[in-house]
Amino acid sequence: MLAFIKEIYEVESKNPEGKVEKNVVEIRHDPLTGRKTRINVNRAKRPHVSGASIKKSESKKEIKGCIFCKERWEETLQRFGEREGMEGQWIKVGKGKNEVVLFPNKFPFARRHVVVVLGGDHAVKLSKISEKTWVNAFLAISQYYQKLTRAEGKHYIYINLNFLPPSGASIEHPHMQIVCEQNMLYAHEFLLSASRRFERKHGMSYWKMLAEKDKERFVGDGNYFSFVCAFAPIANAETYGVGVAKPFHEHDEDEIKAMAVDFGKMMKCYEKTGFRSMNATIMFPLKGSEAETMPALARFIARPEPKEGYTADRGFMEIFYDEAVVHTLPEELAETLRKFW
Ligand SMILES: [Zn+2]
Repeated sequence: MLAFIKEIYEVESKNPEGKVEKNVVEIRHDPLTGRKTRINVNRAKRPHVSGASIKKSESKKEIKGCIFCKERWEETLQRFGEREGMEGQWIKVGKGKNEVVLFPNKFPFARRHVVVVLGGDHAVKLSKISEKTWVNAFLAISQYYQKLTRAEGKHYIYINLNFLPPSGASIEHPHMQIVCEQNMLYAHEFLLSASRRFERKHGMSYWKMLAEKDKERFVGDGNYFSFVCAFAPIANAETYGVGVAKPFHEHDEDEIKAMAVDFGKMMKCYEKTGFRSMNATIMFPLKGSEAETMPALARFIARPEPKEGYTADRGFMEIFYDEAVVHTLPEELAETLRKFW
């Protein structure tokens, strides 16, 4: 029989005036393959800010109309709703130029989906984001994760970056997106089962072997990740960062900082090679048994040059996790198409 399975979540946050806003997130399972698609019709209303990156302007302290520039945080950024244990609040870490703010996504595509603005300045070059800012961002993420865990239990955590519109970012001001899920994302599960098959056959973790043995594509060791370019990349210029074999909640503050420093350093390396727009992600195991087979894994890819009036429809979720995010309801589309048929 055909099984049309959908999970529906009502996700609440508060706007800056304190009014509750609701989004409906549908996760539909493809009846044949089980592959998931995420629908939030409100995402069509997302604001777009992309002027400075297209003109190749230098990074600026502030640009007009950008909701992520620090001058506007108080009047533009969402606050948490009642469920994540931080009602009416957001999380701020750091001071001055390096201050970051973490808040719920106004247009989420997961039940728990937050944004971290990487400093108040409108930095359209990755090299303008300081090491301290990366560290503050990762500390804010860690704080959020601890609060979420206390309020709702443990989740898989995915730390992501869409940088500039060709990567799927609707706002060019640098920001990260964190998705927390009770189930593994589709492609993460696929990688874990492939890693299990490899380990059964060869008696060793694929990722450990890759980091230690692939000398031809090895880039370097950081304090947290070992970086290796992918042999068969899923998009242009893919690099893996093979991290530590433990769940996110078992990391101490020094490890979180080391992770942030390595992540930021790799971004700068990509910029030096001539790429401006990027996608990046870090996925973490949740259980000890998963961690032994597949450690924390970062992935980085380069995207095309920014163009006027264009935001790509493929961001971190589609590229790294093979779950599509759309804002069109299939039933409404069918109704419209039927009229023209
Ligand atoms: Zn801005």
